Amino acid sequence: MDNCIFCKIIKGEIPTFKIYEDESVLAFLDIKPVNPGHVLLLPKKHFATIEDADTATLEKIGAAFKIIGSRLKERLNIAGYNTYQNNGEVAGQEVPHLHWHFIPRQVGDGLELWHGKSYGEGEVEKIYNLLK
Ligand code: 5GP
Ligand code: ZN
Repeated sequence: MDNCIFCKIIKGEIPTFKIYEDESVLAFLDIKPVNPGHVLLLPKKHFATIEDADTATLEKIGAAFKIIGSRLKERLNIAGYNTYQNNGEVAGQEVPHLHWHFIPRQVGDGLELWHGKSYGEGEVEKIYNLLK
């Protein structure tokens, strides 16, 4: 896609710190890391969201999850990391090219990603019936 910043990175038109690449996926350092070593993993094909992507592409991403996660743990000497994905503008997706965040975690880094809410009366059953 012509005006997509991540497609430009994939094509080499914008420089970035690439840490992993194969024929289907690319991973590079986020320009504004939540923690040092924050990585973005994305398919080279342009899709905006998970539902738009084909299953073969998602399988390639799945395989790369293990490669990126293992590399972060081994080379940055961290105990864990968060992965998350903002799917759609309402969910905070700023770059409309499907991507996953990998955020290295250190003990006491103070990062709090979310706070759980409680279901109201009858709400969980209603949602369960819609989703099962
Ligand atoms: P989103 O909110 O769409 O899930 O996350 C987009 C991410 O892309 C942000 O964390 C932002 O810092 C990162 N980002 C945006 N533009 C660039 C760029 O040109 N280069 C790199 N390396 N990261 C970028
Ligand atoms: Zn794109």
